[in-house]
Amino acid sequence: ARTPIIAGNWKMNLNHVEATGLVQKLAWTLADKQFDGKKVDAVVIPPFTDLRTVQTLIDGDRMPLQLGAQNVSQHDSGAYTGEISADMLAKLQVKYVVVGHSERREYFGETDEVIGAKAKKVIEAGMTPIICVGEGLDIRKEGRHVEYTLAQVRGTLEGLTAEQVAGLVIAYEPVWAIGTGEVATPDDAQEVCGAIRQEVASLYDEATAESVRIQYGGSVKAGSIAQIMAQPDIDGALVGGASLQAEEFAAIVRFY
Ligand code: 13P
Repeated sequence: ARTPIIAGNWKMNLNHVEATGLVQKLAWTLADKQFDGKKVDAVVIPPFTDLRTVQTLIDGDRMPLQLGAQNVSQHDSGAYTGEISADMLAKLQVKYVVVGHSERREYFGETDEVIGAKAKKVIEAGMTPIICVGEGLDIRKEGRHVEYTLAQVRGTLEGLTAEQVAGLVIAYEPVWAIGTGEVATPDDAQEVCGAIRQEVASLYDEATAESVRIQYGGSVKAGSIAQIMAQPDIDGALVGGASLQAEEFAAIVRFY
């Protein structure tokens, strides 16, 4: 069985002092709710500048949280001013790295090719990529959301082996549902997540498809998580805005 994975993408919010407050409050709230970190992989994904602070808190206080990063370079090292390598993240005990978020695709010109290269670096450094895919509103209105998203899946997975794909996380985030309060219906989310799993089966094999974890992302809140998690092909959520509030994110993580 696939372990559910719920990850909070803080995006460009909270400095390292504010991060301390949020993570501590999150840990207290999870303790109150008797959260069991073996039942759900609960991941916090702060900005790069908070990673060290958050990692120290998680390790020092044995919090039932794992650490993620929001982006990574597709290069190993060298003259790439402003970039952060996969090895640098791995050294900070980062476990998960988001690659190809729709905001990176839209504002920073990331293509499926670049995203696939980043995913490969993350895997080679011993971490797990969370590869983001999903259609915009125009594509959804035209009814082409499944084919569009599956093309992104094929484009980003190219060159990865079945073994590598079996261990990764794919996040389906329809762009029209991000930060809009417009959550996809559970059926809409399941339609695409199910199609992604089938695509992995046809690109690789059934065992790989059964093993890969697929998240839904887009305006997930405590009130909507249970229905989303009840879908057969949805193994978790990638949460933006609601992950900045300790009580709300704790309730999402403690959905079971
Ligand atoms: P919201 O939960 O704020 O809609 O953001 C979703 C997202 O982009 C997570 O990566």
